[in-house]
Amino acid sequence: MMRRVLLTAAKIPAIRNLSVRLPPIRRMVDRFVAGETPEAALDAVARIAATGRVATIDHLGEDTTTQAAALAATDANLRLISLIAERGLAEVAELSLKASAIGQALPGGHALAQENAERIIAAAHEAGTRVTIDMEDHTTTDATLALVQELREEFPDTGTVLQAMLHRTPSDAERWAHPGSRIRLCKGAYNEPASVAHTDKRAINASYVACLHRLIDGGAHPMVATHDPALIQAALDLLAEAGRPADSYEFQMLYGIRPTEQQRLADAGHTVRVYVPYGTDWYGYFMRRLAEKPANLALLGRALIGR
Ligand code: FAD
Repeated sequence: MMRRVLLTAAKIPAIRNLSVRLPPIRRMVDRFVAGETPEAALDAVARIAATGRVATIDHLGEDTTTQAAALAATDANLRLISLIAERGLAEVAELSLKASAIGQALPGGHALAQENAERIIAAAHEAGTRVTIDMEDHTTTDATLALVQELREEFPDTGTVLQAMLHRTPSDAERWAHPGSRIRLCKGAYNEPASVAHTDKRAINASYVACLHRLIDGGAHPMVATHDPALIQAALDLLAEAGRPADSYEFQMLYGIRPTEQQRLADAGHTVRVYVPYGTDWYGYFMRRLAEKPANLALLGRALIGR
């Protein structure tokens, strides 16, 4: 229930405008967001890399409503890429990109998002890194997968995301499970209706394991994106059973969440990629993080009353 309230609030501009101005909320955001500038994000990446982990960087922003904003988001990603190259971080830092940030929802949005994504991915390649296209709510899944399919014709290492909570995902996993296919598997962070998504945690976890099984069997490069101890153990078991070498999969977790577990996995020889978001447009991302863990609300409550 609380999850639904928070995820609904994440879409309401008036709440957004009030929240972003409240200093206690901004302070709590620091746990989940690496800073407002690309320089701050790259400082975080350098710290992460020093501990044997790697990163994927997200310039925060979504649901862009104008062509100018889509272009600004594209330019921000291009600037990020040149800074990654300048600081010699291409081997440890990829990019994560939301199609809605670069124009997908605008009229003619498919072509616009494709053009902007191509510019970003071409620059990423030039710099020696690559891009994963994030997945947003279920109304965008078909459009985003179509975009990725087109992008992969020129840039086959473009990654994307499947969300285990959606009923459609086992069949998507089947379709996208082929050698070289970089697929991040997560539970799904959006407020989805029961007609398209599991709402029960056990069903979501069962779907997660089934989808991961398909990705591994089909020879994909799975990016196991979860902090859930049961799913991490299930992934370790499936990968070991399949005899997967360490460079054929990775674990992914979010900046600020379970850092000790991130380090444990990295120290055990697994690739661990940390999703590092930065920028001023943190509201939607932050609300999804609040919705994931009820205890975060208590922290927020304490921050708001100054304790
Ligand atoms: P949960 O059951 O939610 O969490 C397991 C445990 O992890 C919790 O008990 C808690 O200890 C810890 N934890 C989890 N979340 C939090 C939190 N917010 N604060 C504090 N502790 C927490 N979703 C999408 O829909 N599209 C995407 O493109 C996408 N990309 C992602 C990329 C990465 C690298 C990761 C890790 C997640 C991504 N997600 C994405 C989010 C994902 O769908 C889940 O919402 C999120 O990971 C929480 O699910 P969980 O698997 O960690 O399990």
